[in-house]
Amino acid sequence: MIRTRFAPSPTGYMHIGNLRTALYEYLIAKSQGGKFILRIEDTDRERFVEGAVDVIYETLAMAGIKYDEGPDVGGDYGPYIQSERKNNYIDYAKQLVDKGEAYYCFCTKQRLDELKNNSSDKIAKYDRHCLNMPKQEIEQRLKNGEEYVIRQKIREGKTTFKDVVYGEITVDNDELDDQILIKSDGLATYNFANVIDDHLMNITHVVRGSEYLSSTPKYNLLYEAFGWEIPTYIHLPAVMKNSGEKLSKRNGDASFQDLIKKGYLPEAIINYVALLGWAPKENREIYSLEELEKVFNTDGLSKSPAIFDIVKLTWMNGEYIKAMDFDKFYELAEPVLKQSVKTEKIDLKKAAGYVKTRIGTINEIAQMLDFIDSLPDYDKALYVHKKMKTTEEISLKSLKEALSMLENIQDWTNDSLYSSMTELCKNLGIKNSQLLWPVRTALSGKPTSPCGASELAELLGKEETLKRIKIGIDKLVI
Ligand code: GLU
Repeated sequence: MIRTRFAPSPTGYMHIGNLRTALYEYLIAKSQGGKFILRIEDTDRERFVEGAVDVIYETLAMAGIKYDEGPDVGGDYGPYIQSERKNNYIDYAKQLVDKGEAYYCFCTKQRLDELKNNSSDKIAKYDRHCLNMPKQEIEQRLKNGEEYVIRQKIREGKTTFKDVVYGEITVDNDELDDQILIKSDGLATYNFANVIDDHLMNITHVVRGSEYLSSTPKYNLLYEAFGWEIPTYIHLPAVMKNSGEKLSKRNGDASFQDLIKKGYLPEAIINYVALLGWAPKENREIYSLEELEKVFNTDGLSKSPAIFDIVKLTWMNGEYIKAMDFDKFYELAEPVLKQSVKTEKIDLKKAAGYVKTRIGTINEIAQMLDFIDSLPDYDKALYVHKKMKTTEEISLKSLKEALSMLENIQDWTNDSLYSSMTELCKNLGIKNSQLLWPVRTALSGKPTSPCGASELAELLGKEETLKRIKIGIDKLVI
């Protein structure tokens, strides 16, 4: 059975690249009836960020990515937490020491710093100072309570492995460092804990960012040292901000939580992220998570870096909003509506209906309806519109006619307002747009509005409508 895992280190928020890794691991497992597990790789206490674990749980829950084998899903285990499993790792490291595949190292930080400073290489390799220390000396120093680490002894030769996305990769072991497996605090490095856990948890497919390609040979040498089976590797190219820059936590680039705060829907984000580096077989873009679980396959994975395109995501989000059931939409929109429209007696449900098909994000509602509370101080040039066949003169005349007609209307509903306005146009012998456009402009004070003249009039109410038309007339008279 296929088993994948998402193995985040809680070092900050979840950016889109991390979320994509989690999603692909989930989809690879689910598309083949396998299991997907979550493992928190928190052995590196220096990089640990308070609250980051909760962000991981929250993000996965909101995104609908459910892990197997958690207490809350009826399994025997939690999400696996590496810091709670530390004893295991040291035992495994000692096994490697006994096999001659790892060794104790007592070098001080000072010595290692000097080594680094004196090295001309970019990545200074450890000089194997402690490799051949006599057994007795090791035992004595351990007995003395001296600080130590355990290092992997990299074998000579070359390491070759096959990656599903990148193909065959060969590395000269000479380039690899005798990496630390157990740190002086007794905790495993995440490189080591990662391998042990992938083995113990029977992980069949390791999916992760391509930045781990260079560490993979070291991992494979560990598997070989233990005599364990090497998993299938699927490394994913980076998600880029643009052609030259990666999306990164450090630069505060798009995180799932930020996007949610900006009014994007979890299901749209997931849909978009699924297509960031994976192409479905059919020519289609909108997929629910359940649909993805059925159609996802590793053949569609791309080797070239994907660029995070917020415009595309916004379009996709808009499609989800359009397709959403109105009541569900209103529930989401209500807080933003209440925040942005303070004028009493405005029918917020009606306003929501007008914006639903026109927004890319929920937060755009605020800007789209900002004219309700206060009419913008607009330029009268807005009345001039070629396509609508309006000029300042035509607009002035239309607004005056509209004002006197509207003053007498009792049935202040969209239908009656619309027919009265078009009727008036007919009587005046002008095109509908020559009156509707000026009225729409006078009521919104903006070049675009979420609805037309009669709908705006109904929304704003009689008093406000008449007031705004008078303001329009005054502007055009001067
Ligand atoms: N803990 C690593 C990280 O957060 C992931 C390593 C892996 O997936 O193998 O980047």
